Amino acid sequence: MAYKRKVCCYRTGPIEGNPGASFHVKNQVDEFLIEAGFEIVGDTFEHLERMNRPQSVYGIEMKKMRDQGLILAYSEKELLLVMSFKKARRSDFIISRPAPTASGGTTSETVISWLKGVPKLVIIGPHHEGILDNDSTFMIRMLTGRYDLVFDTERHVINFIKKHIKVFHKGRNAIRELIANIKKENPRINDRPRKMWDEFEGKAVIILGWPGAGKDTQGRFLQDLCGFKFFGSGHELRHLHAGFPDLKESLGEGNLAPPWVIINRITQKLISLAKFEPIVFAGTPKMLVEAQMLADALSDLGRKPIVIVIDINEELSRKRIINRRNCDSCEEYFYGEEFVRNPICPRCQGPLSERKENMNEGAIAKIFSWYKTDVEKTTKFFEDMGVVTHIDGHRTKEEIFEDILNILKK
Ligand SMILES: [Zn+2]
Repeated sequence: MAYKRKVCCYRTGPIEGNPGASFHVKNQVDEFLIEAGFEIVGDTFEHLERMNRPQSVYGIEMKKMRDQGLILAYSEKELLLVMSFKKARRSDFIISRPAPTASGGTTSETVISWLKGVPKLVIIGPHHEGILDNDSTFMIRMLTGRYDLVFDTERHVINFIKKHIKVFHKGRNAIRELIANIKKENPRINDRPRKMWDEFEGKAVIILGWPGAGKDTQGRFLQDLCGFKFFGSGHELRHLHAGFPDLKESLGEGNLAPPWVIINRITQKLISLAKFEPIVFAGTPKMLVEAQMLADALSDLGRKPIVIVIDINEELSRKRIINRRNCDSCEEYFYGEEFVRNPICPRCQGPLSERKENMNEGAIAKIFSWYKTDVEKTTKFFEDMGVVTHIDGHRTKEEIFEDILNILKK
């Protein structure tokens, strides 16, 4: 049998929390690598499964030991020390995906690979959250070392390996040379420049509207094109599922998240911002109490909310909610028959899935009922503050974005 080149696929995420939060997609890269004849080593979470110690068991044990101060026992069992380092060292290349919420593991892995000169393909996500929401300049430096390339999505990594498959089968030195040459040609290849307009400094934008109005899409535009920090409750809540399993169930039935959860996420986010950083809240707050808390917090922080309501009628909203497909990989939403027939993300080629709450009439009815009560009250609250602008949502997303920019530049 021919010698197989080894690749270390590292999935990051707090091992004591929810690793899936950072690598929540079924990993397309794995399938591709196996088919292409590589041997995958050093996948921490798969290792745990094989040992019959899933992360949900291992994580809790480790946390207990750490909290009890059992440092020696902890180190003896710490996978990153006993397993991943070794694996990382003997890989021909590493694929890693840093998580904004936890970078300890990634950092240790990347330090080793950096020291040993193991080439690395780093997936930072289409919205670059992996890097941009992480304050560790140390980690960022490690992610963009000499033999490292940064990619937006798994699909881009797959395409890159496919294009240079012969080089990848030659092993570490050849891959290093390839990457070094690419970087010689284009030293800024890992940069992700985006426009930042001074007039957005310190702005706090809240985008409201019925389901399917395109709140997330517009929020992501502001993030990708104007340097806004992004807050979407869907995105935030997905990261909480492990610690709060009932929440997923409840959201799937069309219920709202409890306000204390939302308020906690909002305040965490707000106090982490520097004064100049603009932020956009997409589809949050929904409940009146959340709106009041957010308004108070913003006021204490010297910010004034700009609330934009994207108006669409109930018919369109209903149609979109049913035909909505959600990309597990880049978190973008898509509406339309073509995505129902062919559930592939046009943006990153990741798998599109249906949200549980979009599949049953009862859940949809519930969603509409709280939009008509809670979200209405929230909208009214902001209207009374005199900070709301309504815009017509029955247009293309580009036209809507144009409107939003005009409102913000006023
Ligand atoms: Zn996608």
